[in-house]
Amino acid sequence: MKDNISWYFERKNKLLGNNILAICYKASKEEMKENGLTNENVLILVKNKEFDKYINIKDFNLKNCLQNSFRNEPIFLRIQSECLLGTYGDLHCDCEQQKADALRIIRDKGGMYIHLPQEAQGHGLHYKLKELELQVNGRDPSGKFVGQKDRNDAQKFLINNEKFEDKRSYEIIKKIFEELEIQDTKIILLSDSESKIKILKKLGLSINPYSRYMEKEVNLENLSEYLVKILDGTCRYNKNSLNEMMSLIETRKYNERTINTFLKIIEKINMNTIENLDEEDKALFLNTYNNIICGVEKVYTFKDSNITKVQNKFSCRVSNKIFGTLKLAFHKNIFSRIALEKLFFFHNTNEDYTVRIRDSKVLGIKDENSLFLEGQEYLQESIFLRDQTKLVENEITKSKLRVFFENKDFSYTKKIDMITFISEYEIDGVNIYIKRIPNIENHIMDVYGKKEKILEFIRNITNILDKSMLNMISSIQ
Ligand SMILES: [Zn+2]
Repeated sequence: MKDNISWYFERKNKLLGNNILAICYKASKEEMKENGLTNENVLILVKNKEFDKYINIKDFNLKNCLQNSFRNEPIFLRIQSECLLGTYGDLHCDCEQQKADALRIIRDKGGMYIHLPQEAQGHGLHYKLKELELQVNGRDPSGKFVGQKDRNDAQKFLINNEKFEDKRSYEIIKKIFEELEIQDTKIILLSDSESKIKILKKLGLSINPYSRYMEKEVNLENLSEYLVKILDGTCRYNKNSLNEMMSLIETRKYNERTINTFLKIIEKINMNTIENLDEEDKALFLNTYNNIICGVEKVYTFKDSNITKVQNKFSCRVSNKIFGTLKLAFHKNIFSRIALEKLFFFHNTNEDYTVRIRDSKVLGIKDENSLFLEGQEYLQESIFLRDQTKLVENEITKSKLRVFFENKDFSYTKKIDMITFISEYEIDGVNIYIKRIPNIENHIMDVYGKKEKILEFIRNITNILDKSMLNMISSIQ
């Protein structure tokens, strides 16, 4: 036997029971590179009821033992990519649950558990921590808050990969089976990963998925991980697990990356580009989506930053080029009213937040499309937190404005006067609000509506225009 395999017959194992063969396959440099391994040692734990016969014999032959033991039965195989944080208790992902379930099945039925050192899809632990800090806490490696990102966006941010790169491959599994001379044995794979099954089949191994694969333990922490796998088409989940995921989403307690991924799945369903959901699953997703998006289209912001607003407002600055396209979409000069705006800023010195009062007076109406009347005046109050995020927006009265001047908790900071051109319009279910501020040559557009409608609207514009606007879709709030 070559020196790339070592083994040790464990007499007792706390997780798998008695008489477990621990095998180490030492990968070559090329194999490490090819398979995305972050170190050379692959641990293989094997259990078979025939092993009881072998534990005490004087001369032991590993290959004979394996071949004879599995001769008449398939091998339940779990291939587990390394996840050190999961091993040490981090609940961010689903791997520990999968590991525990697989070990339980192998303990009961016999089989093989292969630990592949492919930490962070082959990117390594050093990378993984940076990725997770972005995903979970929204901070970049310098500690700066840049907003929570899902797995794919985090990778784009960190190593500028346009598409999420999974460095793992599984050629080494075939090598190991050949080395142990059990490559012809039937394998029942303990995995929910469609792509893994496909890849291993392609390598020529006799692979079948375990039909009664373990139920998922879905929680708010690992939900986004499952959703990313659905989005990427790498995993299929049973109805129970999907139902559980949807009911968690309906609680609206999800974090930002969860809802972002969920909305991307909805988009894919609508564009009919999702592969691993059947019609029933798709209906389930759409139904959940309809339940969480409110009928009244508004932006909701919550004091507790862990609770994410429902995202159905698209807000962006528009360049002259896009503005020209919007004019085409509106079929006419799009500004229907001119308003005089005064912005007053007050700072609450006690609690350190800023209040902005916008006093808007309609000076002129171009046609009858405006909801406003000439001469109409209204006031709106917005509260900005220290980090500039908006907490709440309300209409207020003139007397309330006066109160801010007189309240000792508030210090009056500044006033801005400006003339604005405004257009409000409804096109096919989306409300479009465009504001042009001539003295700073700035166009601002807010689009309110159901997310799918907004995306459709943006797609329509980009069909007329080019892809430059697509970049702005990321600014959907
Ligand atoms: Zn993990």
